[in-house]
Amino acid sequence: MPCDRSSRSTTRTESFPDQDDLWAASLFAVATPKFQALRGTRDILTPDAERHRSLVDVFAEQCRLAGYGHIMSPILEDLGVFLRVGESTDVVTKEMYDFQDKDGKRIALRPELTASVVRAFVQHNPPSLPWKVWYEGPQFRHEKPQAGRYRQFSQVGVEVLGSDDPAVDVEVIAVGWRFYQRLGLTQVKLLLNSLGDESCRPEYFAALEEYLRDHAADLSEGSRDTLEKNPLRVLDSKRREDQAIVSNAPLMVDYLTDDTAEHFAAVRSGLDELAITYELSPRLVRGLDYYTRTTFEFASTALENAQNAVGGGGRYDGLAESLGGKPTPGIGFALGVDRILLACDAENVFPAPNLAPEVFLVDLTGGSQAALLADVLRRGGIAADRGFDGRSMKAQMKVADRSGAPWAVIIGEDELTQGNVTLRDMHGDTGQTLLQRDELLAALASRLAH
Ligand code: AMP
Repeated sequence: MPCDRSSRSTTRTESFPDQDDLWAASLFAVATPKFQALRGTRDILTPDAERHRSLVDVFAEQCRLAGYGHIMSPILEDLGVFLRVGESTDVVTKEMYDFQDKDGKRIALRPELTASVVRAFVQHNPPSLPWKVWYEGPQFRHEKPQAGRYRQFSQVGVEVLGSDDPAVDVEVIAVGWRFYQRLGLTQVKLLLNSLGDESCRPEYFAALEEYLRDHAADLSEGSRDTLEKNPLRVLDSKRREDQAIVSNAPLMVDYLTDDTAEHFAAVRSGLDELAITYELSPRLVRGLDYYTRTTFEFASTALENAQNAVGGGGRYDGLAESLGGKPTPGIGFALGVDRILLACDAENVFPAPNLAPEVFLVDLTGGSQAALLADVLRRGGIAADRGFDGRSMKAQMKVADRSGAPWAVIIGEDELTQGNVTLRDMHGDTGQTLLQRDELLAALASRLAH
């Protein structure tokens, strides 16, 4: 079982009152509990939610330009999908949300999307290869929440299945790299490594394990545990007491066979040709077990070190097979949307989009004229907002002002009888103009340069 079920409480918790609590509250006039988003999860409100969506739009456009199709796969997966691919990783054994559904089936809330996409690839067996897809959506990991680390977070990513051409590695990395650039980020660096494949890993793993066992007494307790499960992951330790041992550990690059070394060299020269700069990072390992050969991470130097990874990925040539498919090479990456937005804040780029309506309707005749005109304008492609509740001119003008709309349309009793409206320039100096109602749409369209 990946998660510690013994720690799950069957009693009620303060943050999740059940039906009985609600009954008690209503019977005894106890204050109704106020619910909060769960720890490590957040409501993303406007305009941040629009900013998040625009970021996904930029990513989608980069992917479209590079010939990637969209895939939407379920948030719920068979628990087995992740158990197959990450049995010795924290993401799967410690952090995954899993439960039994009402049919007794063991389900996981996906902690990442690569395994789901590969499961989908095996399930649908696409006829033409390479199969190039992109995705976006929420992931779930029961981590210790902190700035830039949440229990529900969003990723965008790509996966390519069916080719082990190093040019695919280069293309995948370039899609990520150009995406950061499109956002305006300049302080993202690419860390690159090769984790070898089955032709060289056994020899390297044996050497690494022997070295770590020889030094086990000096490793932190956490790393001694990791050593028992997966020696490679000890290299990922951030604990200070492990650093001396980790920095002298044998390196995968010294064990690469000619084939894997050649593949890695071709990836590097492809990146050089595109002028994509990278740092070789021979101790870079990734959080999941399935990575082989090219492995990379994108780190923002504008963010605090502890939480500066804004994306990562690599090859996973054995994954399709371990999920019941034919041997199929694959590569992909996942980028953390929440953290990329923090990097954008730190670099002061990619602001939230302007959400102000283009026009605000102030109706002093009861509200039905605003309804009619808003409908006409919106159908004509103009963003029109309006006041409600039959409020006074002063109150509605205040809301119009606060909305940021460059134009206000005022409909008073006089305008209603005469079939016209007053158009007011809220920011410029053209003042007010009286227009026939049927001229309004065209007049606004030309002023807004539609
Ligand atoms: P991974 O799937 O672990 O390779 O993560 C890919 C990217 O997702 C990371 O580089 C982060 O940007 C982001 N990420 C991973 N875990 C979290 C989390 N708990 N909260 C926010 N972002 C995360």
